[in-house]
Amino acid sequence: MKNTSGYAAHSPESALEPFQFERRDLGADDVAIDILFCGVCHSDLHTARSEWAGIVYPVVPGHEIIGRVSATGTDVTSFHAGDMVGVGCLVDSCQTCTECADGLEQFCINGATGTYNDPERQTGKPTRGGYSERIVVRDKFVLRIPEGLDPAAAAPLLCAGITTYSPLRHWNVSVGHKVGVVGLGGLGHMAVKLAHAMGAHVVLFTTSPDKRADALRLGADEVVVSKNADEMAKHASSFHFILNTVSARHNLDEYLVLLKRDGVMTLVGAPAEPHPSPTVFALLTNRRSIAGSPIGGIAETQEMLDFCAEKGIASDIEIIPMQQINEAYERMLKGDVRYRFVIDISSLRSD
Ligand code: NAP
Ligand code: ZN
Repeated sequence: MKNTSGYAAHSPESALEPFQFERRDLGADDVAIDILFCGVCHSDLHTARSEWAGIVYPVVPGHEIIGRVSATGTDVTSFHAGDMVGVGCLVDSCQTCTECADGLEQFCINGATGTYNDPERQTGKPTRGGYSERIVVRDKFVLRIPEGLDPAAAAPLLCAGITTYSPLRHWNVSVGHKVGVVGLGGLGHMAVKLAHAMGAHVVLFTTSPDKRADALRLGADEVVVSKNADEMAKHASSFHFILNTVSARHNLDEYLVLLKRDGVMTLVGAPAEPHPSPTVFALLTNRRSIAGSPIGGIAETQEMLDFCAEKGIASDIEIIPMQQINEAYERMLKGDVRYRFVIDISSLRSD
């Protein structure tokens, strides 16, 4: 076992602070990775502060991991020491159920293993994430980072990228579709870039008027400030698909009424508090639907990484040292992220 430095939250109220723990020994099908960068997802904050159920402390968050392979187990054939690799929200699953057989490990019937705060299959101890100097991951859950992607800017693709790519693909977003993206944060800015690259007409909804110019630069065709009822009304019954990335409770009806016949609004934002129930009339008018979507499977995550490399897409990032993580959380809560914090893990080694 290897002693490992990281940052952990010890209670919902406490700041993240330095924490030492052990990574498991390398198994036959394991890959050991020296972490270079880790993106900061709003889910890290929800978890560290126990805003979701079932949190076990201490929590080492981080599921947007980029690093270099340092060693491989005896049965590993697809990775070699020195490879640039990624790890997203999943580090294991049963590999035997029908969902795993379909490459949809996020729906594993026996329970996929999250990168942090889940029982590790090999040891029974809680998994610990990428706010740390190294990680050991089963080879099937390691992603290949294509040449040409900047490693730091690629980190957020491992969660924000796949979480938005997967529903855009599932609901067949393409040329000729009018697509709304709600919220311009980590997930939202990836959704704008990806939907634009898929050929859709993209409308960004924001509560922050000062993000308008950025949204247009990122690929939105139009920007609507959602607090402005007149601007919202101009888009009534016009969208094929809306991807809602908002991290806080809000009124869904304001967006549902913008869907055309058979339009779908998919929720990927996962607030601590439930949204107020939508009104039935906003749904039955135009036969609208609300859906949800969690992250994505490993094969689709690799497809997304390859798509991003081909299209020249990565995240817009602000690199921070590990020591600034608590300030970064406060800024994230204010919507003050342009558009993803990424931790330079080399800063951990100077702690
Ligand atoms: P983020 O960077 O903090 O972005 C969230 C954005 O939501 C903000 O930038 C803001 O955009 C908007 N917003 C925040 N508070 C709002 C409010 N009270 N009313 C309206 N809009 C508000 O967060 P993120 O990392 O993108 O994550 C977004 C959500 O997705 C989180 O709940 C996270 O846990 C969840 N998530 C889900 C999955 C999944 O598998 N489904 C995966 C990853 C993350 P504007 O300033 O533009 O309004
Ligand atoms: Zn995430």
